Amino acid sequence: MRKNTFSRRTLLRNTAHLTVLGSAPVLLHACKKAEFSCQDVSGLNEQDAELRAALQYVDRSPHDSTKRCGNCAFYVAGKENQCGQCTLVKGPIHPLGYCNSWATKG
Ligand code: SF4
Repeated sequence: MRKNTFSRRTLLRNTAHLTVLGSAPVLLHACKKAEFSCQDVSGLNEQDAELRAALQYVDRSPHDSTKRCGNCAFYVAGKENQCGQCTLVKGPIHPLGYCNSWATKG
């Protein structure tokens, strides 16, 4: 009698690539979603541009996902795949951005 050697480990190992391939469209969509830029400060006056620079705003937070504009108390969301706004920092604000005034939502 032949022993059934099809184990759970074998199943996971043989289907892992399917999981990765299956999640590729989701990852691709997430990357595309964040591709837009919110760096155009041409509409700002000198004082607002200086404040933005002084607070070191960037489109990509250097911190983990727990500190980004999208979850900051001062962030006002824009339409999907578009820049939002901030009640402190003038100009377009990326939901994945960050500045030194980041604050947790109350
Ligand atoms: S205060 Fe800074 S971190 Fe918060 S939304 Fe405005 S720019 Fe982003």
